[in-house]
Amino acid sequence: MAAKGICDPTVEPQSKFDFKLIRCRTDNYAVLVHDPGSGDTLVVDTPEFGPIDEVLRKTGWKLTHILNTHHHHDHVGANEALKEKYGATILGPAANKGQIPGLDKGLKDGDKINFGGEVIDVIAVPGHTLGHVAYYMCSEKVVFTGDTLFSLGCGRIFEGDAEMMWHSLDMLRHLPEDTLMYCGHEYTLNNGEFALEVEPGNKELQQRVEEVRELLRQGKPTIPVSIGLEKRTNPFLRPESQEIRDHVQMHGVENWRVFGSLRERKDRF
Ligand code: ZN
Ligand code: FE
Repeated sequence: MAAKGICDPTVEPQSKFDFKLIRCRTDNYAVLVHDPGSGDTLVVDTPEFGPIDEVLRKTGWKLTHILNTHHHHDHVGANEALKEKYGATILGPAANKGQIPGLDKGLKDGDKINFGGEVIDVIAVPGHTLGHVAYYMCSEKVVFTGDTLFSLGCGRIFEGDAEMMWHSLDMLRHLPEDTLMYCGHEYTLNNGEFALEVEPGNKELQQRVEEVRELLRQGKPTIPVSIGLEKRTNPFLRPESQEIRDHVQMHGVENWRVFGSLRERKDRF
């Protein structure tokens, strides 16, 4: 099912914003988005103050917005320090008010955030946590998926259930295929090794895992990655795949059940 009420751009993205992917802690990512026109700058998730502050100091960008995808510590840990230094407004799931330090504005599914003259859509993607949201920048064809959708994988189901998590992933896989996905962690290689175990005959997956190994060898991130490529390679977006269904020995059942079986197997992988 496609998310309702969010735009599906038929025109080329404007790419008027600057993006900076920042590695934090051991395997977390934060992303800075800067609008040269208004000077506004947002960060998606705040795993660690130092690396984010360093980029802000080097670029001279003034942080105006903090967007949290969910309440886990490795996504909100530097909220207060960044707010104190830059005076940014903190936005995040209203459901986790009290768990998100310094939250100024609670968000729910369907909310729209104005940034640099463009709209950011808030999409509820519960499962990893019940309040988890994704942020979709239609004008730039970019989506921030936090710990819901990873490249070649997905987040663990901590608060929701498999059917709920599947519905969230199904929503994300219906975004335009050329949408670039930024996720919360660099887990792509481990995810890819699991993916190859459950769908070894997927040629594009084999290629992607090779590319991922090369990127990591060069010390480069494996994201962002297009939703289209994820749909063709990420087993958690592919419960219809015959090879995957054969692997988990589940036929004639709903997609979410196949997804749930994959998620359980990945938990033990
Ligand atoms: Zn998390
Ligand atoms: Fe996380």
